[in-house]
Amino acid sequence: MTAPIPSTALSPAMPVRRRGLMFVLSSPSGAGKTTISRRLLAHDTAITLSVSVTTRPMRRGEVDSVDYHFIDQARFAAMVADHALLEHATVFGRSYGTPRGPVEAELAAGRDVLFDIDWQGTQQLAESARDDLVSVFILPPSSTELERRLHTRAQDSDEEIQRRMAKAAGEMSHWAEYDYVVVNQDVEHSVAAVYAILQAERLRRRRLIGLSEFVKGLQRGPGTP
Ligand code: 5GP
Repeated sequence: MTAPIPSTALSPAMPVRRRGLMFVLSSPSGAGKTTISRRLLAHDTAITLSVSVTTRPMRRGEVDSVDYHFIDQARFAAMVADHALLEHATVFGRSYGTPRGPVEAELAAGRDVLFDIDWQGTQQLAESARDDLVSVFILPPSSTELERRLHTRAQDSDEEIQRRMAKAAGEMSHWAEYDYVVVNQDVEHSVAAVYAILQAERLRRRRLIGLSEFVKGLQRGPGTP
């Protein structure tokens, strides 16, 4: 997947419009989800990333307001109290949440939003917006490979890596709650698979607005209003 492929996002000139969809990618840490989501975002300009808030410390190489909005616990609690988060959860003892405003603005404009969130957040989105939600679970090809990837990433301390390995088994038990499962053996194939899911879901009939009027116009034939 090197050359960009035309998106099936409908152009403004099209008589048929589409509701934006909420595209969730979840996986245990180290399964390759971040790489896949970055590649998807670079490849397709009709989808934007929902930037979460978190109370965890920033890692080397991360950029505030790009990877996360890094905030303190008091600010997080205030956002929860103000209903400013679409969903929120505690992961590895830290708070994470999805700011509501930007997501609602994107969806209202008919654009798609990508979420890199865990199974707890996915469950909450499914309760509030099942029709607009498409969820994909990424699995590592093996537990040995998962541990190797966590070590290669080396952004976390050894203690943190061990905690994440221990957590991975529990996280993976949620695979059956997802619409799609991709085993990330090869990143190229996985990006292509995730992109195929996105493209197909964009074409789902129930997301299209104005379709019956459009078809009636086709049936009336040329020259009729
Ligand atoms: P990390 O600290 O490695 O960036 O993320 C840890 C886990 O938190 C990942 O599984 C990630 O998908 C999840 N996560 C990140 N942001 C959010 C969020 O806004 N809500 C929820 N529920 N999970 C999140």
